[in-house]
Amino acid sequence: MQNKSSRTIEILERAFKSLVGGVNSPVRAFQSVGGAPLIAERASGAHLWDADGREYIDFIGSWGALILGHANPAVVAAIQEQAARGTSYGMTTELEVELAERIKRAIPSIEKIRFVSSGTEATMSAARLARGFTKRDFILKFEGCYHGHADSFLSEAGSGLATLGIASSPGVPEALAALTLNTPYNDLGTVEKLFAAHPDKIAAVIVEPVAANMGVVPPEPGFLEGLREITRRAGALLIFDEVITGFRLCYGGAQSLYKIEPDLTTLGKIIGGGLPVAAYGGRVEIMNHVAPLGAVYQAGTLSGNPLAMRAGIEALKQLEEPGFYGALNKKAGRFVEALRGAIREAGLAARVNSCGSLATLFFSEAPVRNYADAKKSDTRRFAAFFGAVLERGILVAPSQFEALFISAAHTEADLEATLSAVSRWLYESRRGSAD
Ligand SMILES: *Cc1c(COP(=O)(O)O)cnc(C)c1O
Repeated sequence: MQNKSSRTIEILERAFKSLVGGVNSPVRAFQSVGGAPLIAERASGAHLWDADGREYIDFIGSWGALILGHANPAVVAAIQEQAARGTSYGMTTELEVELAERIKRAIPSIEKIRFVSSGTEATMSAARLARGFTKRDFILKFEGCYHGHADSFLSEAGSGLATLGIASSPGVPEALAALTLNTPYNDLGTVEKLFAAHPDKIAAVIVEPVAANMGVVPPEPGFLEGLREITRRAGALLIFDEVITGFRLCYGGAQSLYKIEPDLTTLGKIIGGGLPVAAYGGRVEIMNHVAPLGAVYQAGTLSGNPLAMRAGIEALKQLEEPGFYGALNKKAGRFVEALRGAIREAGLAARVNSCGSLATLFFSEAPVRNYADAKKSDTRRFAAFFGAVLERGILVAPSQFEALFISAAHTEADLEATLSAVSRWLYESRRGSAD
C-alpha cells in the first residue's frame, strides 16, 4: 500500500461513496495489486500527475488509446476548434466521411464502416451482424481474448475478469452464454473440432489477431491463416477485433502486418485520438445488412461525434507520417531487449512477450502462448513489482494480464528511467530473497 497524502485520500473517500469501487471501469481499481486507485489530475506526453502532484511515467496510455501520448498539441487544438462549432449535431458530417476514408485507405478489407462510441459496442454490433448475415447463432472466441463486455463475450474473457478472478459474469443468461464457444488461443486443432461438432451453426470466429488482454500473446505462425481457411470453408465469418491492434503495430491493422483479410474488423482506442470512438467495418455485401440498408439494427445518439472524429483524424494524420511506426517499434524493441537482459542478469523467473510497442512482463518461466499459460504467472510477484516501480514513479497497468503501452511520447530518458527502476527492484528483490 502506497502512502497517499491528503488530496488523494480525500477524493478517494468521496469516490468510494459515490462510484462503485471508486472507479468507472474495474481495471482502474488496484484490487489485485493492493493499494488504492490512483487519482489522475493531468497528463502531458508520457507523463501523468496524480491529485497530490506526484509524477509518473505512464505505460497505460488510457489502455492503449494514446499512441501519441497525452494532450498531443494537434489533437488538442482540433478538439478546441471543433468544440466552438458545436459538440454534437446528431446528423452526418464531412468529418465522419473523412475519418472513414482514412481508415478504409489504411485497412482495405474495410469497404464500409459504421462508427460507434466504444469497443464494446463495436464487437457487440459485429457479432449481431455476423449472426444476421449468416443466419447462424454460435460465436467462437478464444480464452483470454477480451472483446468488451457484451453478454456474448463474457466468458473466459481475459483482462479485467482475469484480474479479478471472474470466470463468467452473473447476469448473462445461460441460453446466451451457451452460444459462445471458447477455445485456447494459438490452437487450430480445437477450432477444427468445434466446427465439426457444430456444423453450419457457427456464425463467426472472433479473435484478437495479437492477443493483448491476457497480457501480450502474439499469434503463432499459421494460426491466423488457419482461422481464415477454416472459417472460409465453413461459411462462417472471421472477425478481427483490432480495438487494440488497429493502428498500434503499423499504419493499418494487424491484418496488414500478417496479410490476412478478415470479413469484419472492429476498431477503437487509437482511432479516437483519446476520445470515445470505435467502429466496425468490412465487406460491402456484409455491411449492407446494417440498418438503414439492411435489417440488422444498430444506432447511436453520439455515434460519429464531431469532437471525436476531429481527434481521430488529427491522430491518424500524425500516424501516417513516414517512419512513425519504424521509429516507435524500434524504440520499443530496444526497451524490451534491455528489459530481457536485466531479467536474465537477475536470474528472475520471468519473460517478456512483445509485439511492436506492446509488451508484457510475465512472471512465469514457461513460454506464454495462451490463457492457461498466462494464468500460471506469479501474480503476487507481479503485485510486488507493480508497487515497487509505482513508488519510483513508473505507472504500469495494475494487472499481470495487461500490456505495457509504449507511445511515441516516451523519450529515451523515460525508458532509461524505467529500466533503472526495474533493475533496482530486481537487485533488491534478489538481495531480499538471498537474506
Ligand atoms: C478495449 C477492448 C475492447 C472494448 O473496448 P471498450 O471501448 O473498452 O468498450 C474490445 N476489444 C478489445 C480487443 C479491447 O482491447
